[in-house]
Parts: sequence; structure tokens; C-alpha cells
Amino acid sequence: MMHNQEMFLLKLGEVVLKGLNRRSFEDKLVSNVRWRLKKHGSFQVYIRQSTIYVEPQGEDCDLEAAWQSCRQVFGVAAVARAVPCEKTIEAIVETAQTYLAGQFAAARSFKVESKRADKQFRLNSIQISQEVGGELAERFPHVTVDVHHPDLTVFVEIREKAAYVHAPSVPGAGGLPVGMGGHAVSLLSGGLDSPVSSWMMARRGVELEMVHFVSPPYTSQQAQDKVLELARLLTAYCGRMIVHIIPFTEIQEEIRKHCPEEYFTLIMRRFMMRLAQAVAKKAGAKALITGESLGQVASQTMMALGVTDAVAEMPVLRPLIGMDKVEIIRLAREIGTFDTSILPYEDCCTVFTPRHPCTRPDPEDVRKAESALDVEGLVAKALEGESWVRVKP
Ligand code: ATP
Ligand code: MG
Repeated sequence: MMHNQEMFLLKLGEVVLKGLNRRSFEDKLVSNVRWRLKKHGSFQVYIRQSTIYVEPQGEDCDLEAAWQSCRQVFGVAAVARAVPCEKTIEAIVETAQTYLAGQFAAARSFKVESKRADKQFRLNSIQISQEVGGELAERFPHVTVDVHHPDLTVFVEIREKAAYVHAPSVPGAGGLPVGMGGHAVSLLSGGLDSPVSSWMMARRGVELEMVHFVSPPYTSQQAQDKVLELARLLTAYCGRMIVHIIPFTEIQEEIRKHCPEEYFTLIMRRFMMRLAQAVAKKAGAKALITGESLGQVASQTMMALGVTDAVAEMPVLRPLIGMDKVEIIRLAREIGTFDTSILPYEDCCTVFTPRHPCTRPDPEDVRKAESALDVEGLVAKALEGESWVRVKP
């Protein structure tokens, strides 16, 4: 009899469709899962037929933590906790009876759904369901078989090494494995939006590096720590990352001194783009990510975004562009960044906000206003003051 320790089956999502480089997607995903599970004990992780098997090796594994981690790995569409057993109807029934006893107690009807990945198995999937279902109906007389609207569905999978019994799977994090979507620099503020936009691009497989602008003494150490904490929360999904901290005080003071107030925010945002881009180029990253959403504030009107984009030489990805604030907030809660984002520390953007920001800026006017500044010199100096922190899960 093989040991009946609970394990996880991770079902791949879109990865399955990527016929061309499916192999590298799978390898990346398996290595991401392994990496993520390292801190929860010793697990064997391998892939067969578009399913990743996660098997705890021994008693010291933290199964609950591992389960949560697996649910945060991008590229996994669904996860199920399962128990393996011998590939006999007898063993499958025994396993279902014990493992799903609680679920059976709470159910009034059930059905069995089977999958035969091992085509050598003597019964086909319909026959497996019938035999297992018949046996279970006898052992749990209070439940009836209902193939249309059962309270409980028992899943049986006959696979290479063993048969697996599990209750319905739950959704995984979806998306693509981190590392398969390229490398980008995300502009991370302490607000609600940019952690969500970062998360959304990571879910599309993008490996992230963060840039955060600080304006001491106008912004505090707590504001910076808050951003590092947001980055740390994101590492649960995307693994460890570097956060670049760039001093922004001088740039803001120079803008305030020399440029019309109505363009203040726009010119500031153009500096952010230039600096983030410089970091991206150095890191070999190919895009920038921001948390902007159309019309949310004056600097996020279509014309304002155009003025900002004009200084970018690489794609600026804005995954929140078409989202409402309520949707962004819902996501922030789901991914666990909301509570940190709402801590009340001043961000550099809120330090000098114009009373009447221009919402329909003319690119040429902004450029002229900006020419009062030594743009290159200010950028170079800010980059000299850059420091970075490696944030780990
Ligand atoms: P957020 O909630 O992300 O702060 P926001 O609605 O406050 O966004 P803005 O303050 O206009 O909008 O900032 C727009 C985007 O610019 C942010 O989503 C973020 O990507 C970037 N950004 C703003 N401030 C900073 C900062 N101090 N450091 C790094 N990036 C920033
Ligand atoms: Mg903000």
C-alpha cells in the first residue's frame, strides 16, 4: 500500500495553449513553484500531462502555507488538494470514503467525475465513475447520486503513478509564469493603484523591478518603509525584487521655482518617466509600468498622458487605464495590499500639488515651460543619489 499523504495537483492555465514554447513555460512554472515552496519544507514538484504534482516529503512540511503559496503562483489556473492511492476501484473508494468523509456528511447528493490520463487502465472514465459512485452510494446511505446538481462532486483521476481523489479544485492565480513576459520597471508609489498595476503585469508573466521616488524632508522615512512593505507583499506573487529609491526633492523644488504652477505635476511626471527609463535601460528592462487610470486625476487625462508619454522611449504599460476605482480597490483587497496602501503618509506627488492643474495641456507649451530647467543635469544628479533595496518574501 502506498503512503496516503495529501498532496496538491496544480492545473496549468493558458500555458497549455502556448504550443510553440510550451516546454519553456512548463519549466519556468515548475521552477517558480519549487522556489516558492522552499521555505515551507521539502516538496517534490514535477509535471506530467499539464498537471504539476506537489508532494510533501515528510512530516516537517507546512501544508497550509504551501497551499496558500501555490494559489499565488502565476500560470496556475486551478489547484486541488488530493490524496493518491493505488489504481484499484477498491482503493479509490476507501480513499474517497475516508478523505472526503466531512464533505459527504454535509452533502445530500453527489456525483463522481473521473478522468483517465493513464489509458492502460482497464475501465474508461464513465465506467470508473459508475463503479466508484455505486460503491460510495452504498457506504453513505444518506446521499443520493445526482449527476446534474450534486452538492458534492468527487473527482477521480487515474494517472501514471497513482489514482488521485479530490473534491472540486479552486481557482489559482491565473496568468503566465513570472519571467515569461519580459522584464519591466514599475513605478511604485505608496498609493492604492501602483501595487495593483504591478501585480497585474506580474500576472502576465512580467518580472518586475521597482522604482520609488522620495522627497525628503517633505516625505518621511515611514512613507518609504510603507512602499518597501508593499513591495514585500508583492513578492508573495512575483518572488524577490529590487526597489530603486531615487531622490526627487531637488527636481520638485526646481520645478516649483521655475515653472508655471499649472504644469507642475505634468513636468514632475515627465521627470519620473525619464528617471525610471534610465533605471530600466541599465537593468535591461523593456517597458515601464504605472498605476494610471484614465481621468482619475488631472495628470491622467488623455492629453496629459500624451505629454508624459512624449518623453518615454519604451512602452508605458498602464494596466489600470480602463478600470474604475472601485474595481482597483477590490483587487487591492484581494491581493492584500489595501491595508498598507491606505496608511496615511505623504507621497512626493501630494507635496506640491497645483491649485489648478492643466487638464488639456499642449505638449509644446509644457516643453517650453520645462526648458527653464537643466533637465539632463537634474536627471543625472538624481540618478547619482539612487540607492536600492532587495526585497524578499
Ligand atoms: P497611486 O495610487 O499608485 O499612487 P495615484 O492615483 O496616486 O496612483 P499619481 O499620484 O498621479 O496617481 O501617480 C500616478 C502613477 O505614477 C502611480 O500609479 C505610480 O505608478 C507613479 N508614481 C506616483 N508617485 C510615485 C512615486 N513617489 N514613486 C514612484 N512612482 C510614483
Ligand atoms: Mg499616488
